[in-house]
Amino acid sequence: MAQIIDGKLISAQIKEELKEKVSKMKSLGVEVTLAVIQVGADPASSVYVRNKKKACEFIGIRSLSYELPEGTSQEELLDLINKLNERADVNGILVQLPLPSHMEEEKILDAISPLKDVDGFHPQNVGALCIGKQGFVSCTPAGVIQLLKRSGIEIAGKECVVIGRSNIVGKPMALLLLRENGTVTVTHSRTKELKAVTSRADILVVAVGKPRMITEDYVKEGAVVIDVGIHRDSEGHLCGDVDYESVAPKCSAITPVPGGVGPMTIAMLMNNCVESVKLQG
Ligand code: NAD
Repeated sequence: MAQIIDGKLISAQIKEELKEKVSKMKSLGVEVTLAVIQVGADPASSVYVRNKKKACEFIGIRSLSYELPEGTSQEELLDLINKLNERADVNGILVQLPLPSHMEEEKILDAISPLKDVDGFHPQNVGALCIGKQGFVSCTPAGVIQLLKRSGIEIAGKECVVIGRSNIVGKPMALLLLRENGTVTVTHSRTKELKAVTSRADILVVAVGKPRMITEDYVKEGAVVIDVGIHRDSEGHLCGDVDYESVAPKCSAITPVPGGVGPMTIAMLMNNCVESVKLQG
C-alpha cells in the first residue's frame, strides 16, 4: 500500500510553526507585512488572493491589499511596486498572475526588489538558487521538498526525474532536488522515450500540465510520485497530471489531488514572507 503524502496536514503543521515564529517576532517588536497586488477581477485570481490573505491572518502576518482596476496602466503598476520597494514597513510584495494582456509580465516581476520577491520569480533569486546562494525559492517546488522531507523520504543519491521545465515549477524543482543531492533528469515536451526515462525514477515529480497523463506504465514499482498538476475534469472533479487510480498501487508514496502539493504553495509563500525579514535584516 502506498503511503499517501498528506499535503493538507503538512501545510497545517508549517503554518502552525510560522504562527509561533511570528508571535515571537511580534514580542520583539518585529512585524511581518506582505503587500498583495491584484490587477483586474479574474475570479480564479480573486480566490487565490483571498486564500493568501486568510493564511496571513492565521499566521499573524499583516497583509496590505491593492486591488487595481483592469485598465490600470503598466506605468501605474510599476509606480506602486517602486513605492512598495522603498517602504521599510513592507517585507514582501506579491503580484498575482496572470496580469492583463496589456502588461509585460516579465518587466513587472523584474521590478520587484529581489529582497521582497516572496514568489521567488526574480532572475536574481533564480540565479541565487542556481549557484546555491541564499534567496527566495519558488513556492510550489519548495513545497514539494518539504513534503518529501517531512514524510521521511530521502532525496540524496536518488534517481529523480522531473516532468516539465517551466520557470515556476520544473526548473526550480530540478535545482532544488540537485541541492538535496539527488541525481536529477529534467524531461519536457521534446523528450524522446519519456516512459523509459520516467521508469528509472526513484522520485518522479510531475508538472506536465496535462490531466491524468502519467499512467502506471511511466512509473517504476516502488517509486515516490509527486503530482504538481491541478485540473478540473469534465465532471467538475479536481484531478492531477497523474492517473492516481492506476499509479498509486505501484508506488511506495504518492501525493493526492486535491490535498497534496496544492496546499503547500501558500504555506511556502508564508514561509518566504517570514524569511524575508531575515534577508532584509
Ligand atoms: P507549463 O504548461 O508552464 O509547463 C508544462 C511543462 O510540461 C513544459 O515545460 C513542457 O515542456 C512539459 N510538457 C508538455 N507536454 C509534455 C509531454 N507530452 N511530455 C513531456 N513534457 C511535456 O505548466 P506549469 O506552470 O509548470 O504547471 C504544471 C502543472 O502544475 C499544471 O497542471 C499547473 O496547473 C500545476 N501547478 C500547480 C501549482 C500548485 O500550487 N499545486 C502551482 C503551479 C502549477
